[in-house]
Amino acid sequence: MASKWVVGIDIDGVLADTVTSMAVWSRIVYGKGFDPKSVTTWDLTECTDLTSNEVEDMINSPNLYSSALPYHFGPDVIRLMAERQACTYIWFVSARPTITLGATAAWLNWHHIAEAGTLKIDVTDKENFADQHGVNVFIEDNPQTVLKLANICEFVLMPTRPWNNMIKLPRNVYPVSGWLEIGDYFFPKGWQYI
Ligand SMILES: [Mg+2]
Repeated sequence: MASKWVVGIDIDGVLADTVTSMAVWSRIVYGKGFDPKSVTTWDLTECTDLTSNEVEDMINSPNLYSSALPYHFGPDVIRLMAERQACTYIWFVSARPTITLGATAAWLNWHHIAEAGTLKIDVTDKENFADQHGVNVFIEDNPQTVLKLANICEFVLMPTRPWNNMIKLPRNVYPVSGWLEIGDYFFPKGWQYI
């Protein structure tokens, strides 16, 4: 039976470990290293010594994203989802600035998932995006965005991170420990990592 899931996948904090990349970048470029585990909000000016100008420069630097590592098994699970038609469509949906489009597309290509879905960048209103594109499952880590997406999607999978340690979640938001657990939602009868 064909899957009914149209899946939206956020990139930073979900697929790519951008926080670790930012910590390294911050140490090398600004001499302000920080422990990625201490990042309890995406507003880095609140939990690090970085100024808002430094954060702005950093997030507009394509090289920052090129060096990010994928979270364990992320690309593998996405490839399987596409190959085995565990979903009807995959969107990679990111709020990254347009200047990072080339670096982001190249990153998906390096990790062999560019063909698995369609990339949309500079999407600041993901709730509207999900509504317009019929996205009924979203994988998202930003707690504010998760709450909004829960109004539109059938369910939202939220990888647990230090910055989304929320106490109360809507009933259709499921915290997940990582990509193997995400895979379980799309292969409910069991699946094998190959
Ligand atoms: Mg994110």
